Amino acid sequence: MDLYEHQARELFKEHGIPVPRAEVTDSPKEAREIARRLGGRVVVKAQVKTGGRGKAGGVKLAADPAAAELTARQILGMDIKGHPVGSVMLAQPVDIGTEFYVSYVLDRAAGRFLAIASAEGGMDIEKVAAERPEAVARIPVDPAVGVTSAKAAEIAAAAGLPAQTADVLIRLWQVLVREDALLVEVNPLVRTRQGRILALDGKVTLDDNAAFRQARWAAEADTDGTADPLEAAAAARGLHYVRLDGEVGVIGNGAGLVMSTLDVVAGCGARPADFLDIGGGASAQVMADGLAVILSDPAVRSVLVNVFGGITACDAVAEGIVRALDTVRLTRPLVVRLDGNNADRGRAILDELRHPLVQQVTTMDGAARRAAELATAG
Ligand code: ADP
Ligand code: MG
Repeated sequence: MDLYEHQARELFKEHGIPVPRAEVTDSPKEAREIARRLGGRVVVKAQVKTGGRGKAGGVKLAADPAAAELTARQILGMDIKGHPVGSVMLAQPVDIGTEFYVSYVLDRAAGRFLAIASAEGGMDIEKVAAERPEAVARIPVDPAVGVTSAKAAEIAAAAGLPAQTADVLIRLWQVLVREDALLVEVNPLVRTRQGRILALDGKVTLDDNAAFRQARWAAEADTDGTADPLEAAAAARGLHYVRLDGEVGVIGNGAGLVMSTLDVVAGCGARPADFLDIGGGASAQVMADGLAVILSDPAVRSVLVNVFGGITACDAVAEGIVRALDTVRLTRPLVVRLDGNNADRGRAILDELRHPLVQQVTTMDGAARRAAELATAG
């Protein structure tokens, strides 16, 4: 999950990284009040989860509270790269001396983190990185050691940042670790003409896999307002679910199998209504939660369960379906294809169920065809 700039700013502030005073609003009138509180002159900044706001006209200086109201009204009406602006942050203007770039990002291939830093930060960092890669330092960070004072000094020296930035480099690492982030970026980190170091813009990407131990995220996700309600319900139950716009609900184990099932359903002339990966486990709870989410989509006319038994054998999946049907009322046909480990036992369990809406087909193509027919008939 990506955070808005104002949320990133809060995290920075909590971890002791200096940031300008700022407040968020979705109302131009309130923007005027905020500007007054902040001393009159403010920078009005679109809050959207995409970069390049400055170049798109989403970051503007307003000279006084009346101008702040006008500017806020104008920016609140904008759409930046397909992101409608729902709120603005008003920040105290900073007298910028120099703009730097700093970030920590997970380097999956190398199995560690990377510090990326440059003394030429600001709105043209992409251009700098493309045209003069030597102006951007890339220093590996061992996650077991982290950013110590020595590491911070190394990063600052490699990028040509003033030694003064070391404290922010250490604290930014603490944000990444404590908040379970995959990316923390400050661009620009500035040195003001008066010599202070301040983070003027922040980007944070949280690791969704850590949501279980980061209770406060749930509240932040709620304010997001971008998620499909069914996807939000599925995410709340820990399901890997993506809503699509067709009529065949698709459940499978493993992302690869689910994706090929979507293709086969499409090949049979129907459209998948969703993507639901039950993963390696196939407990009755996961199956029940998955079916409940899929069946709450009125567009769904049939459900296809396509499972290739491996470590989780087909009989366990079949048991999961049987127990799920104790709690979820099946209102549309369910076509099941079980293959792989213990397929025979799994099929026998579902046969014994004798549920009028559950049917089994042994091949993937056959099952997809059946589900497509049921979804498109009449
Ligand atoms: P984006 O990266 O999306 O374009 P930024 O927040 O980085 O948005 O703002 C763009 C530029 O606006 C910054 O590089 C900086 O020069 C200027 N800026 C941003 N916030 C302030 C501020 N509080 N005071 C002065 N200038 C600012
Ligand atoms: Mg920026």
